[in-house]
Formats: sequence, C-alpha cells, structure tokens
Amino acid sequence: MHAAFAASADSTPARPGIEERLAALIRIPTVSAERSVRGDEPFEALIALLAEFYPLLHQHLPCERIGDLGLVYRWAPAEESAADPVVLMAHYDVVPAAGQEAEWSVPPFEGRIVDGQVWGRGALDDKGALCTLLDAVENLLAEDWTPPRTVWLCLGSDEELHGATAKLIAETLRSRGVRPWLVLDEGGAVTEVPFPGVSGTYAMVGLAEKGVMSVELSADGTGGHASAPTGLTAVGRVARAVARLNRNPFDIRMPRTVVSLLAALAVHAEPAYARLWRLAAAAPWPAARLLAAAGGADGAALVRTSLAATMLSGGSSANVLPSSASAMLNIRVNVGETTAGVVARLRRVIADPKVSVRVVEADEPTPESASDNAQFALIEDCVEAGYPGVDAIPYLTTAATDGRHWHRFAPAVYRFAPLYIPQDERDGIHGRDERVAIDSLVRGERCYRALLKGLPA
Ligand SMILES: [Zn+2]
Repeated sequence: MHAAFAASADSTPARPGIEERLAALIRIPTVSAERSVRGDEPFEALIALLAEFYPLLHQHLPCERIGDLGLVYRWAPAEESAADPVVLMAHYDVVPAAGQEAEWSVPPFEGRIVDGQVWGRGALDDKGALCTLLDAVENLLAEDWTPPRTVWLCLGSDEELHGATAKLIAETLRSRGVRPWLVLDEGGAVTEVPFPGVSGTYAMVGLAEKGVMSVELSADGTGGHASAPTGLTAVGRVARAVARLNRNPFDIRMPRTVVSLLAALAVHAEPAYARLWRLAAAAPWPAARLLAAAGGADGAALVRTSLAATMLSGGSSANVLPSSASAMLNIRVNVGETTAGVVARLRRVIADPKVSVRVVEADEPTPESASDNAQFALIEDCVEAGYPGVDAIPYLTTAATDGRHWHRFAPAVYRFAPLYIPQDERDGIHGRDERVAIDSLVRGERCYRALLKGLPA
C-alpha cells in the first residue's frame, strides 16, 4: 500500500498541468548513451520545449550553455547580495530502455498519464524532479518573487554517462568565484526506510557518496602446451588474486553520516528497536561491525569499501597455456578513504608482483555534509511544506550523482529530490515501468518553492 500524505498547509494554487509538461518531456528521448545514434536533435528539442513551458524563467533568468548541452540559469537577487549562492541541480538525460520495451506495461517514451501517474523513462530519474524545480521557479516569478541571494539552476545533459558536463559546470562556476552555500541534487527521495523497527515514510537525504573505481588485474604467461605446465598459469594467478581479495574484505570504518543515520533511526523506531539504534549510534565501532556482519549487503555497504569482480577473461584454447588473463573489479570506496589507498591495499592483499593492477577509472568518495546546520534545517522545512509530517533522515548515497563534482569545494552538498517513490516502484529507476504520481509532482513543486522562499538573506 502506498503512503497517503497529509494535505499541505500551503494552499497557493500552483500552475496546473505539471503532469502534461512532464509527459511531454518524457516523449523526447534524450538518451545520453544513444546520442551517437539519435544525434543532438532530441536534446535541442527538449531545450526548446523548456523555453516554451517556462516563459517567465526564460525571460528573467539568463541562460548559458556550458559544454555543448549543459544548461545554467542564473537567478539574481532583487538587491545586490554578498551572500553565497545556492545551486539547484537536475539532469535531463535518461538511461536507455532499449531491449526491455516488451517488459514495460506502457511504451517507455510515450509519456502516458494513467491512473494518476505519469509513466515513462525519466519520470523519476530525473525529469520528474527537473519539472518540479522549474515549475517552482516559474510560479515564484509569476508572484514577482525574487530570491534574497543568487540561485543557480544547473541542468546536466549526461549524468547517466558519468556527468562530464556537470563536472565542467562546477569547475567553470568555481573558476568564476562561485562558492555555494548549498548545493542540492538528486540522490534521495521520500520513501519507506529499509531498516528494521522503523516504519512509515521518510525523506532520505544523502550527505555523502561513495567513490567508484574500475580496476583491472592482469597477468602474462609464457604460453606453451598445457601438458607441461610450470607453476601457476596466467589464469591461475588472476584467479588466485581475486580469491585473496574476496577472502580479505576491506576494513570496517563508520562514516559520520551513518552515525547520523543511526541517531535518526533511534528517534523514529518502535521502542524495542529505538534502544538498539540508540546504542548503535553511541558506539559506532561495535555498530559498524554489527552492520557489516548482520546488516546484509546494504548494511555492509554503509561501513566498508565493497569489491566485486565483474569480468574475467584469459586463454584461447583448452589445451594451450594462456599467454594472458585479466579480471575487472568494480569497487565502491567508503567515505574517509581514498582511491590511492585502495590501490595500495589491493597490491598488498594480492601479494603477487606478477599480477599488475591498473586503474581504469577512479572517482574519489565525497566529503560528508553536516545534518545539524542551517542548510539541512532548510531541507527539513522544504520536506514539511510538500509532505507534512514526513521527517528527513540523513543517508549515505552508494551510487554516484552529479553533485559529487561540487562536493570537492562546497561544504554543504545534499542529495534529495522531493518525489515520493514507494518501495515497490523503486525498480523503475533504470528499470521497467518507471512512473511518478501526479500528487508527488504537485508536492515536489511545493517543496522547491518552500526551499527557495526559506533562503536566508
Ligand atoms: Zn539521475
């Protein structure tokens, strides 16, 4: 059963038709991974449609392209303000639906509205959030409201391809001296909390995100006939290296963010569990061990760097010694650690100079934002405006978002989009039957509006 939320205190009528606008955006297949096939046309078409849907926004906020398709809008305050600006982010590209169309209940790019929900690729990730954000700005402009400090709207065009554009936007604005007081990007939502003893719906707000690495292990052999092997083959060496890594998981380390999460669970859990979560928050080290041992894959992912061997290759024939072999590792680096530290540890655990370790891709984990500051309190107020009675809970995001590019130099970066995503509809993100309730869009717009109106001068 899906949560029903209390009516919002703010009864200001929003501009009608947000579901139609989202449906129209969904109909334009801005699939970043298929840009080489589809060309730039869908991206340009979506940008043109935004200008049509948000006339006041395009009239009052200068828009700049950064990268070929990144959009940056600057909303200046009515009076010159020395206060640090705010960066609100969303991305308008989506992941493909290719190959899974047959599994969808409705075609993924038709933007159908059925039973109070808008269906299609991007409904949740991230065109839904983008729509609520731009609607909020348009509605405030219609009231002649201007922000007390500069607001930047940064819309990425390739988040699903690791966000080179978002990185360029962050670096460009940084080089111009932009030092945000607050950055808000996707990454958390209003949803049911997946922890024992805590029921109900919460706004999960990401304070930090883990790093991501792809690392290739490889070994060379001498070749020759398999009837006269000498020692380990290249395949044997790589297999032994993977086995050693699997036997020696990374050290446990309790991020500050997870302590905040446990403290929040203690406040909201039923009495028997509240005590457990309270103890856990007060004793991070035993709690981290408990999460790693008994918290399942999700619990363990919160307190240690995870490693998965994802690809393996080597050899060419059953009776020929392999001349080479390799394995690919996907590693999610815990906050507080570094990718360089991970590489050093891989070498130490593998303990085989004949296995080479090559970093294919490495993104550092982010710093951790606070949950006891004015920025987090503002996000709590924003949630309350759209979802009365719903509390915010700090969370560690284990997937990568565009927000990480700001986090290297902005201290207050949060990952939260104000949409309700029921547990059983979460698979729609990057999966099939992605959809969002119209009610969530209406509430989400109120959230962004409250956030903007609550900005301190
Ligand atoms: Zn996304």
